[in-house]
Amino acid sequence: MKGNHKQIITTLTAAISSIKAASNIAKMIKDGTSMLEKAELNSQIVEIMCSLSDARTALADANDLVREKENKIQELSEKLSFKGRLVHHMEAYYEVDSEGKPTGAPYCMSCWESKKLAVHLYHVRVFGFCPNCKNKYQHSKAHVID
Ligand SMILES: [Zn+2]
Repeated sequence: MKGNHKQIITTLTAAISSIKAASNIAKMIKDGTSMLEKAELNSQIVEIMCSLSDARTALADANDLVREKENKIQELSEKLSFKGRLVHHMEAYYEVDSEGKPTGAPYCMSCWESKKLAVHLYHVRVFGFCPNCKNKYQHSKAHVID
């Protein structure tokens, strides 16, 4: 699975060590400017730029991973609050009204209990029919509640 915790820690650790490397080189240059040849100075600066560029890439990756996690959390909490609003009644699940009573069109019991999928039943004569799992429910046990 993309966007796991370990990946975020790894990319952040990489960014931190790249920044540390850049800082160390900068400190070396500052402390020893007079002794350094211009060519050597240039190569040190190139190293700093590489380290900072690595850090930037790692931080961008971590940012993507965190955003992905945030989306997942949002999705899960929406599912969870929806779950809290569905109640089991007869052979189906229903949303509840302000008094906590089942209301509206029935959701497929099988899909909800096995996959947490809220699928409305289609009503064909005496049956409620699930378009997802193809289960049939007798109309008397799963029907629209007004
Ligand atoms: Zn179903």
